[in-house]
Amino acid sequence: MTNRYAIAPDGGSITCKVCGLVSYNKNDVEMKFCGHCNVFHDDEERNEILHDSSLSDMVKRAMVRFWRRIHEIERERR
Ligand SMILES: [Zn+2]
Repeated sequence: MTNRYAIAPDGGSITCKVCGLVSYNKNDVEMKFCGHCNVFHDDEERNEILHDSSLSDMVKRAMVRFWRRIHEIERERR
């Protein structure tokens, strides 16, 4: 799905080619996440959860927060 997003040459931002959103958030760049589409461009497993109609939006938002936090912790460890 590399045609759905573009990362700046300096790695400082990610542009979603689906909605046009540009994020300068490090986590979004590294996780290839679009906060507008609520899509991980590179992670089908997470997208399946985000598009599961049996889950409420509240649960999905909580999952996104959780994945972002996990990612932050992993990045701080490096
Ligand atoms: Zn988007």
